[in-house]
Amino acid sequence: MVAENNNETLFFIKPDGIIRRAVGANVLKEIMDSDLEISDAHLMSIPREFFINSHYSIHRGKFFFDWLIDYVTLSPILIAILKGRDVTFRIREKLGDTIPTKASPDSIRGRYGIFGGVNVAHSSDSVASANVEVDNWSRNFLSNPQYNVDVYSYIDTYCKYPIKDSMLYRNISVKLQNKEITEEEANFRFLDLITAETDFSKVYIERFAKLLVRNVLLDRR
Ligand code: ADP
Ligand code: MG
Repeated sequence: MVAENNNETLFFIKPDGIIRRAVGANVLKEIMDSDLEISDAHLMSIPREFFINSHYSIHRGKFFFDWLIDYVTLSPILIAILKGRDVTFRIREKLGDTIPTKASPDSIRGRYGIFGGVNVAHSSDSVASANVEVDNWSRNFLSNPQYNVDVYSYIDTYCKYPIKDSMLYRNISVKLQNKEITEEEANFRFLDLITAETDFSKVYIERFAKLLVRNVLLDRR
């Protein structure tokens, strides 16, 4: 990717990083501690239709599409505009590869991502898409002050939550993929880990565990 000077990019913490409280908070902290700036942070649930017809419409028809829509609408997400010189390029570098097992172990997705498409956060993948996404999300969602989030208090509150090593989730995923454990066993083990990390209700925990199982079983043809 060629580094270009653009000033804004669209970023959001996906539901795995929201439900795993300390994961999202640590990622935000890392961004705040860098020389990138976070503005317009909003925590909100986004309608499925927006992802299907707009934000993720380019992925329609791919094997992971239906799963992806269920994933990003599983819980509220934390949306932010990031600012800084070459911000699109630099935050993508920090995030690492789309697939956590391929991402560098010191990148955000490498450290906190789980497996397959479960990769903690989104950021615009080019300067052109950053311009489109910042405009699209600003007009549709970021104008509503009701969902404003104070990033400092979010970090303060959730950094203290217990955190489980993402490798524990990854190991369960690999074991399931290799058929060393059953879907039920994997689901049960995921439930255990998520429960230790979150104050979200049982309904969310169960939906998240199922989604992690489906993520492994996606038909990658
Ligand atoms: P990125 O988010 O890195 O820009 P893409 O735009 O290609 O990646 O894909 C959007 C999202 O779809 C990814 O972040 C990931 O959650 C999911 N995804 C992409 N490729 C795969 C895949 N091969 N298997 C499962 N999920 C995927
Ligand atoms: Mg992309």
